[in-house]
Amino acid sequence: MIRTRFAPSPTGFLHLGGARTALFAWAYARRHGGTFVLRIEDTDVARSTPAAVKAILDAMDWLGLAYDEGPYYQMQRMDRYRAVIADMLGRGLAYRCYMPATELDELRAAQMAAGEKPRYDGRWRPENARANGLVPPEGVAPVIRFRNPDEGMVAWDDRVKGHIAVANAELDDLVIARGDGTPTYNFCVVVDDIDMAITHVIRGDDHVNNTPRQINIHRALGHEPPVFAHVPTVLGEDGQKLSKRHGAVSVMEYEAAGYLPEAMVNFLARLGWAHGDDEVFGPGDFVGWFELDAISAAPSRFNTDKLHWLNQEHMKRMPSADLGARLVPYLVRAGLDAAAGPDPGEVAVLLRDRVRTLAEMADAAHYFYATPHPSPDRVAEHLNDHNRPAVKGIADAFADLPWTREAIAQRLKSEAAKHGLKPPQLMMPLRMLVAGTTQTPSLDAVLALLPREAVRSRIAAGLPL
Ligand code: GLU
Repeated sequence: MIRTRFAPSPTGFLHLGGARTALFAWAYARRHGGTFVLRIEDTDVARSTPAAVKAILDAMDWLGLAYDEGPYYQMQRMDRYRAVIADMLGRGLAYRCYMPATELDELRAAQMAAGEKPRYDGRWRPENARANGLVPPEGVAPVIRFRNPDEGMVAWDDRVKGHIAVANAELDDLVIARGDGTPTYNFCVVVDDIDMAITHVIRGDDHVNNTPRQINIHRALGHEPPVFAHVPTVLGEDGQKLSKRHGAVSVMEYEAAGYLPEAMVNFLARLGWAHGDDEVFGPGDFVGWFELDAISAAPSRFNTDKLHWLNQEHMKRMPSADLGARLVPYLVRAGLDAAAGPDPGEVAVLLRDRVRTLAEMADAAHYFYATPHPSPDRVAEHLNDHNRPAVKGIADAFADLPWTREAIAQRLKSEAAKHGLKPPQLMMPLRMLVAGTTQTPSLDAVLALLPREAVRSRIAAGLPL
């Protein structure tokens, strides 16, 4: 049974890189009929906030990344970590280290001065302390260190990065609990991954350096480590790493801007993963195709044009009623009353080729839900002696025809011909009068979606006497 997890630290919003990691962990579980666990790593009490937890949950919810278990909160598992530490102390897998921070700093400085890698020298390992006659000083709260193996290699076959091996001699004895007794990050992760029976750890490759230490703790606790897949970073448009200071924005800003979650999932999936030449696909396809081995080991780059294109493609493929339902909240945010105009599904279908996002669509749909009031000057720009009689007469010409797109198109054509005009000479002023803009889809389609009387009164109201 496959079990994956997403383990965000709630210190900020969910940005693209985090969302992509969550998506891959989710998809792998779904692909294999497994379980997707959400774990909130909130042990950094100073930086973790309930607002950040909510932001992460909202973003996952919007993207459709439903978890099967959790959220587990590390802060609620402190007793469990303490119990494991006590057990490790009892079994000699960990020991108390009384080295003051100042001494450790001196040791590191000396090692660096000698051109060595700074590392704790194991002086409080029980046998060393005994040999050197070290006695626990009074009043010093010790840290607890994990007794890392001295020899051999720690290695794993990363499903993205391939075989990675590190000599144990490179790793010092990791602090697993601080002087105040609080367990440290790398330790909690291992206890959690064991307790939550995680089979596949899919996470950002900023954690690669933690993995050998975590593997050693797994083994010390009598467990074979899970499979690891370290996913490369997402770079910004400029090839620089996305960070909170540089280009990283909340996933929810894409929601606010009117991207479809399907398009976002499609976009995130293609950041560092591919399935042949498939570019436009839904979450279901992605789950059906997703394999860890197809994740690229190279960093991927964010591309706004591609996101726009994918969003349009998803809008074009969506059934009109669905797209209309997606449009409604954006109409509301634009201050429009969706009930005051035509079926949003029909409006959406008319506009979707012309806009990149639902927010742009709501903007472009303005005149369907609110009466525009073009200034007399703007109307006058499109009127001249030549076309004025035709425009003035059109309200009457619309009075008697069946109110369908075809009939309207016919009537516009015949009225233009009757007055010796090319169709645009009649249609541009009509667009301005009815929509308050000349940027509209096919005028016959726009008019057909509005009630005939609304069209006639907008024309009458906007025309100079
Ligand atoms: N909490 C870590 C982070 O937010 C993830 C740890 C993990 O996936 O093992 O980067």
